[in-house]
Amino acid sequence: MDLKIVGASDKKEIVDLGDGVKFGDGNFTVIAGPCSIESYEQMDSIGKLLSAEGVKVLRGGAFKPRTSPYKFQGLREDGLKIMKEIGIKYGLKTVTEVMDPRDVELIGNSVDMLQIGSRNMQNFALLTEVGKFGKPVMLKRGMTATIEEWLMAAEYIAKEGNSQIVLCERGIRTFENYTRNTLDLTIVAIIKKLSKLPIIVDPSHGTGRRDLVIPMSKASHVVNADGLMVEIHPKPEEALSDGDQSLRFGELQTLVKEIKYLDKCLRGR
Ligand code: PEP
Ligand code: MN
Repeated sequence: MDLKIVGASDKKEIVDLGDGVKFGDGNFTVIAGPCSIESYEQMDSIGKLLSAEGVKVLRGGAFKPRTSPYKFQGLREDGLKIMKEIGIKYGLKTVTEVMDPRDVELIGNSVDMLQIGSRNMQNFALLTEVGKFGKPVMLKRGMTATIEEWLMAAEYIAKEGNSQIVLCERGIRTFENYTRNTLDLTIVAIIKKLSKLPIIVDPSHGTGRRDLVIPMSKASHVVNADGLMVEIHPKPEEALSDGDQSLRFGELQTLVKEIKYLDKCLRGR
């Protein structure tokens, strides 16, 4: 594997979103929010919950990659506006997905971190564009991507001078269909060995099932991931996308408690 920039090195990359919010600094950083931004009220209730629970990063899709072109595609610019307002109101950092190289500037100017989704992991024009743009990037693993393909995708971004990249494991396609994807936690330990980049885990897309999100979140912490991304919704039954895997508010509170407990247990290692 010819990793020139993101390979293992003594100096681990710390990805900095500002105001003390970092990935790879030894803390377990949680990102939470809805799959799709649906309304101001929805985002306001989520922002309020996150700030009360000490979760510092808000996610939400404005431009959605949907399997069917007939399903909700996101609120687009209106969604970005809502997320920006809520981020400011509650002092939260924000992350959203960009799918088109032509949108990098528009989206990049309204959030703190750009997400490259699983379906676009090898969209090389997009990788190059976010590399040039320079803001922190979350690069999700392609659903059929090998470790080498994933790290090479990160190289495309880093080659443009931007190594502020957080890798995100979100499950891979296997024969198993009880879960939406198979969450590959092995890759966390492998990435720690091969790369200087921080890695977080998305057990929401990784399992597709609400009941598995908390157990796999805890496992991610124990395997030494740098953080987590989870989907939440005030009323998952009414969500316009991914309701089945979205935590309820009470479950997010439980998750935060469990993570704090694990922080204490793992600190001495
Ligand atoms: C998402 O995080 O909103 C998303 C669409 O995830 P993925 O690209 O991993 O499917
Ligand atoms: Mn989703």
